[in-house]
Amino acid sequence: MGFEDKRIAIVGGGLGGMSFLNAALYTGLKNVQLYEQAPQFGQVGAGVSITSNANRILDTFGLKESMTRNSSGQLPAYMEYHNYKTGEYVGQIEEFSEPPTRLLHRAHLLDSLKERIPESRLSLGKHLKTVDRNTAAGSAPYTLHFQDGSSTDADIVIGCDGIKSNVRRDMGLGDDPNYSGQVVYRGFVDYKDLPTETAQLLRRTVNFRGPKRHILILPIGNKDTQTDRAAVIGFMSEPIESWDTEGWMARSDIDSLHEHVRDWCPAVQDIIAGLKKGSPDDKMLKQALYVRDPLEKWYEMKADGQKDAGIILLGDSAHSTLPHQGQGTCMAIESGIALATVLRHWKGDSLEDAFKFYQNLRKPRTDRVTKTSYEAGKLASSDSPDQLDSTFNPDALMERMKWIMEYNVLEDLRIKGADVLDFQDSRL
Ligand SMILES: Cc1cc2nc3c(=O)[nH]c(=O)nc-3n(C[C@H](O)[C@H](O)[C@H](O)COP(=O)(O)OP(=O)(O)OC[C@H]3O[C@@H](n4cnc5c(N)ncnc54)[C@H](O)[C@@H]3O)c2cc1C
Repeated sequence: MGFEDKRIAIVGGGLGGMSFLNAALYTGLKNVQLYEQAPQFGQVGAGVSITSNANRILDTFGLKESMTRNSSGQLPAYMEYHNYKTGEYVGQIEEFSEPPTRLLHRAHLLDSLKERIPESRLSLGKHLKTVDRNTAAGSAPYTLHFQDGSSTDADIVIGCDGIKSNVRRDMGLGDDPNYSGQVVYRGFVDYKDLPTETAQLLRRTVNFRGPKRHILILPIGNKDTQTDRAAVIGFMSEPIESWDTEGWMARSDIDSLHEHVRDWCPAVQDIIAGLKKGSPDDKMLKQALYVRDPLEKWYEMKADGQKDAGIILLGDSAHSTLPHQGQGTCMAIESGIALATVLRHWKGDSLEDAFKFYQNLRKPRTDRVTKTSYEAGKLASSDSPDQLDSTFNPDALMERMKWIMEYNVLEDLRIKGADVLDFQDSRL
C-alpha cells in the first residue's frame, strides 16, 4: 500500500530525522535509510522539554519506558513563575494533559529515539552536498552526493537537516532567517553545586521573568539514573551587532550572562555561581535565536512528471519556531508520524497528492505555533516587569497553549484522512 517499497533517504539524524525514522519503521515503510553528517551521535546539547502532544506519539512507538527512564518524570507543575528581583513565587501553570511533559537532555532523547532503530538503518559521517534530479531513462529519480565522495539513489528524499538545511537550499528555498532580537545562554548546574534551598526550588520548572529577558530552569533527568541536573536557559535581549562570531553558536563567558542579571534575586546569583562551579573554563553555550518565516510549499516533485518521486522537508528545515513554547522538536515528532502514515497508507498513486494532504494537515498548526511562539517570548519576559505580579494571569497563559498540548495528530489523521488513507493493516 502507499509508497511502502520506495527508497526513502532521510537527510539529517537530529531530533526530526530520528523521529521520522521511528515513525517510518513503526508504520511499516520498508526501504528507509538515514544519512547524518556527524561521525557519531554526540553527547552535546541542552535540556529539552517534550510535551504531551509529542509524548503520546513516542509512547505509541513503545518508547514510554525509555523516555520515563531518561527524563524528569511528573513534576508538580508545568511552570512556576518567580519575581526576578525578590525571588518570590508569583503563580504557576498546571500540567496540561496526559502523558505529562518530560524534561531531559537532548542526548538522552536521542538515546531513546535510537533504542528501536537497527544500526543498519543509520549511515553516519554522511554530509549531504547536493541532490541530482536524474533524467536519464532507467536511472533512479534522485542521487544524493556526500562530502566523502560516496553517493546513493533514492525515490523520495526527506530533508531533516535543520534550520540551515542544505536540502532546502538545494530546492531553491534558501531564504534569509530572521534574528529574533534575543540570544540564549544554555548550561547545566549540578544540584550539589547549589545551596539546599535553591536546589529544592530548582527541582521544579521555574521562570524568573525580568525586563525583556528571562531565565528558565528545566529540572532534567532523574535521580535514579543520576542524570538529574538543572538545565539553565537564559533568554536575553542583545543587538545582533554585539554578536562577533560567524555561526549562530559560540562558547561565551558565564560573566556575559551575569552582566544581564547582576541585580536579580539571590537564587539567580546561586545559579550563576553553580554554572561557574560546573564549568572548568567559566564558559557556557550562547546561541543567537533565529527563525524563518513559514514556507509556502514544503516539497518539490520530479519535473518530468514521475508520479512517485519527490523531495520534502520536515522539522526545522520546514517549520522552525522560536523555543518559547518548547515546540520545535514536538512539531517534528508530530510531523514525523503524520508523514510516515501518509506515505505508508496513501490509497492512490500520486505522491504529490500525498505530500499536499500532509502539508495541508500540518502547515496550519506549525504556522500557528511559529506565530504564537513569537508572542509567547514577549509574555515570558516583560516590557514592564514592575507590574508583572499584578498582571500575571496563569489561566490566560494556560488557555493560550491548551490547543498545542491537547492535540492528537493520530486522531486528526484518522478523521481528515478517512477518504484518502487505508488503515486496514495499520498499527495506529
Ligand atoms: C534554545 C532552544 C531551546 C529549545 N527547546 C526546545 C524544547 O524544549 N522542546 C522542543 O520541542 N524543542 C525545543 N527547541 C527546538 C529544537 O531544538 C528543534 O526544533 C529541533 O532540534 C529540530 O530538529 P531537526 O531535526 O529539524 O533539526 P536538528 O536537531 O538541528 O538536526 C539536524 C540534523 O541534520 C544534520 N545535518 C545538517 N546538515 C546536514 C547535511 N548537509 N548532511 C547530513 N546531515 C546534516 C545535523 O548534523 C543534525 O543532526 C529548542 C531550540 C532552541 C534553540
